[in-house]
Amino acid sequence: MDSATSTHCPYCALQCAMTLTAHGAGVTVTGRAFPTNRGGLCKKGWTAAELLTSPDRILEPMMRRPDGSFAPASWAEALDLIAERLSGSRAEHGADSVGVFGGGGLTNEKAYQLGKFARVALGTSRIDYNGRFCMSSAAAAGNRAFGLDRGLPFRVEDLDAAGTILILGSNVAQTMPPFIGHLDGARAAGGLIVVDPRRSATARLTDDGAGLHVQPTPGSDLALLLGLTHIVITEKLVDVAYVADRTVGFDELRRSVGAWYPERVQAATGVPAWQLRQAARRLAAGHGTYILTGRGVEQHVDGTDTTTAAINLSLILGLVGTTHSGYGTLTGQGNGQGGREHGQKCDQLPGYRKITDPAARAHVAGVWGVSPESLPGVGLPAVQLLASMGVSGGIRCLLVHGANVVVSAPDAKQVRTGLEALDFLVVSDFFFSETAALADVVLPVTQWAEEDGTMTSLEGRVIRRRRAVTAPPGVRSELWILHELARRLHSPSTFSTDPAEVFDELCRASAGGLADYSGLSYDRLGAGDESDEPTYWPYPAGSTGTPRLFLDRFAHADGRARIHAVQNRATDAPAATGGILTLITGRLLEHYQSGAQTRRVPELANAQPEARLQLHPATAEQLGVVHGGWVNVTSARGIVRCRAEVTLDIRHDTVFLPFHFPGDQSANRLTGGATDPISGMPEFKTTTVRVRAVAEH
Ligand code: SF4
Repeated sequence: MDSATSTHCPYCALQCAMTLTAHGAGVTVTGRAFPTNRGGLCKKGWTAAELLTSPDRILEPMMRRPDGSFAPASWAEALDLIAERLSGSRAEHGADSVGVFGGGGLTNEKAYQLGKFARVALGTSRIDYNGRFCMSSAAAAGNRAFGLDRGLPFRVEDLDAAGTILILGSNVAQTMPPFIGHLDGARAAGGLIVVDPRRSATARLTDDGAGLHVQPTPGSDLALLLGLTHIVITEKLVDVAYVADRTVGFDELRRSVGAWYPERVQAATGVPAWQLRQAARRLAAGHGTYILTGRGVEQHVDGTDTTTAAINLSLILGLVGTTHSGYGTLTGQGNGQGGREHGQKCDQLPGYRKITDPAARAHVAGVWGVSPESLPGVGLPAVQLLASMGVSGGIRCLLVHGANVVVSAPDAKQVRTGLEALDFLVVSDFFFSETAALADVVLPVTQWAEEDGTMTSLEGRVIRRRRAVTAPPGVRSELWILHELARRLHSPSTFSTDPAEVFDELCRASAGGLADYSGLSYDRLGAGDESDEPTYWPYPAGSTGTPRLFLDRFAHADGRARIHAVQNRATDAPAATGGILTLITGRLLEHYQSGAQTRRVPELANAQPEARLQLHPATAEQLGVVHGGWVNVTSARGIVRCRAEVTLDIRHDTVFLPFHFPGDQSANRLTGGATDPISGMPEFKTTTVRVRAVAEH
């Protein structure tokens, strides 16, 4: 008999609701009514069941032989070897010789357990995760301004009533297509404003009177936001009462943007002064205004300050913490929100607590049954953690869960070199990813529809993922793997294999923290049908959750938001002369993150089988590049060879390359270098490159 299970998509942070129907021939996906997706799915969601039956699944542990090839191993053999090698490294080189790298797609339970495992079972401070490449700048800016970071501090469906929505650096029409239904109200009112150097699918939603596409030079977003702030102040569009009642720091902001005249901003960004004025006036005109940021403005070495500038603009317009307007950041990875709350970050403990806070250490240590003194301190953010591989005093062993750093991390070639230099690499995955291919031991794990767990969506709503099918016999959950390794490592704390028990422990550990889940349980999360109550954190015991944050006060001790004046430190973008161009990396509709999953779904892979470099026709003509022809793209870090896509959708001084592809098409062979000093975010959006037409591949 067919059995239907209510669950959610395995991919992005919109966490579209779906029903999985298991039958003899496999699993059928149907969209399910839910406030964020209203029954809709994108093509990634529709085809998600193919992940479960992919012929590329790893179905038993694999261990590398002396000749470099892989051979199957029993679980006992694999786990014994891992425990022996990790114990040996700790004994010989210290606990910080072992690193742990997590992912923003892991369930809350796995993210929590991984942080606990690193600090308790391994005693290492060296844990961070791939969310460092996604949400770290927005999180740092949100914490600085509001004292709390929740991607959208309001419900997605609140956007329906907006008359004006400013989207900075996010291509939601491709990354989370069902989301764009929530833009219809603003479009109908002519109030959708999209800031993107590309004429992306989202930018095209502004056509036909639906709004405005603002197309700045890559890397000039901060100048653009300072200019908009300048106009709002000089044209007396500030919500004076709100600023006086709910914020501190306005006077310094006013002084700091005094010289950012529209004409100066036009010179810095390429955006006409009239367009800047039009946008600023529209934002201030009321009708319910929302400002949303995405990776386009956040993935920079000044990403925290740029996001702060967007928040400042929101604050002086009086948007944040009301029932009809707001500021938010559009989280990307499936559990990009929950993944950053439960202790995977190098400087945080569960409940979004600072690891340096003695009270936080005491509380979490109490839940874990260890002494606060035994917990390590702050570790290294992801880029520095990976850069320490193979370096004296750096990590010598690494456990990777839910990440494919060979493709997704900046300076991918160097990352590969570092992984190869490790004494011991363990990768847990359900596919043989490019990172798994370098491992000493590969552990095959269960997937989304084969296990229970919780995710926290982009709006801070905690939702249940439910087991719909039985996992192949040779694979195991990460919770079981961590339990078994902890036992072998003689961990002072126990590690449950039951997701509901782990969630209960997570809730206790989060109690009193910023991301407080203590009123939640699997029972409270409901049956996965329309009768479920919405469960937005903070959800302290005895509460009913918090759909909208900051209505009365912000999370700083005095209840006020911080307006933090930021400076534009960017140098002028390189001119499009002599073949020098600015590279933006980004996403395609068909693929998710490193593509390790979606490249294995035939329909998606056939639709987008390779990376293509987008460039403007005038630039292509100048360089002798033809549509579909091969090009070499070269930066200070490396070289990519791929086909060209000549399109009017991009500025003449800019090229775009999706980052979902491996090998000599890996966009992250070109990126790398500096990181944001506050968030640790690498620079992904302003890499200087040269493009050269080359002969057939
Ligand atoms: Fe899945 Fe995101 Fe597509 Fe929804 S928008 S179906 S959550 S990938």
